[in-house]
Amino acid sequence: MSKDTENSPWTIPATEALRAGPHTRVADIDADATPGFEGDKELGTRLLEERGAYLSDLQEKLFANGRSGDRRSVLLVLQGMDTAGKGGMVRHVIGHVDPQGVDHASFGVPTPEEKQHHYLWRINKALPRAGQIGVFDRSHYEDVLVVRVHNLVPEKVWSTRYDEINQFEREIVDNGTTIVKVAMFVSLDEQKKRLAERLERPDKHWKYNPSDVTERALWPEYQEAYQAMLDKTNTDYAPWYVIPSNRKWFSRIAVGELLIDALERLDLDWPAAQFDVELEKKRLAQS
Ligand code: ADP
Repeated sequence: MSKDTENSPWTIPATEALRAGPHTRVADIDADATPGFEGDKELGTRLLEERGAYLSDLQEKLFANGRSGDRRSVLLVLQGMDTAGKGGMVRHVIGHVDPQGVDHASFGVPTPEEKQHHYLWRINKALPRAGQIGVFDRSHYEDVLVVRVHNLVPEKVWSTRYDEINQFEREIVDNGTTIVKVAMFVSLDEQKKRLAERLERPDKHWKYNPSDVTERALWPEYQEAYQAMLDKTNTDYAPWYVIPSNRKWFSRIAVGELLIDALERLDLDWPAAQFDVELEKKRLAQS
């Protein structure tokens, strides 16, 4: 159990309650659920502030250690259908930590330059530096999701990517990065509501993309692609977590807990001073 969670509304730690397993069925995910958590929106919102402050302390230690030669980092991979709340996750969870310590990257339709390279090329370039929290808003998994659903490359090409991704992630982990992969699920109805809101509100028009409606017709194909992704790339060293995301307050505290857990497991302490503290105190007093 993580620090500061005694008497917490988590009846099962988020890392257990949300971990994808061999029996996870994407079609059966209840996007309204709050697995492992007993509490309402008010409590969840309050908790996010508290845990956000703790997350920030942990992040500062990671950063400080990175400055002192520790090569480790953490990478949060966010995947989810349109409107699942990936952007809000970055603002409301990652927003708690010092932006200097965050290496953020989002992955859209590959640029002409990116298209000339292997699909992992752009991913590799965006990996977090030592001491950083990396955040991928979409990721290499698009290359087995949208690419698979739209047959952007032949099946014989995308079908080899699962193993390739596992191998790639193995190397990243061996190089000192803890990977936390988060699959955010909204229901088809909730997505409709969120898209409708984007249409109603001029301040949200910029988020609306007519192709989002076209993609809704492909929901079953996307579910199948998400299922295959979870089945084939849910490794011990880079596990998937399934985040029901109809309730934004829940998805945010859930991912906050997963990050806290990843950082706690690094067992970080403040790096020792590289100078003689007592001597420096004297020198400062005399200066
Ligand atoms: P968002 O919709 O997340 O706000 P963008 O508007 O930048 O972000 O677009 C993301 C779009 O890029 C999504 O429709 C996604 O499916 C698509 N995309 C991401 N990676 C790839 C890829 N490798 N090949 C094709 N399309 C991709």
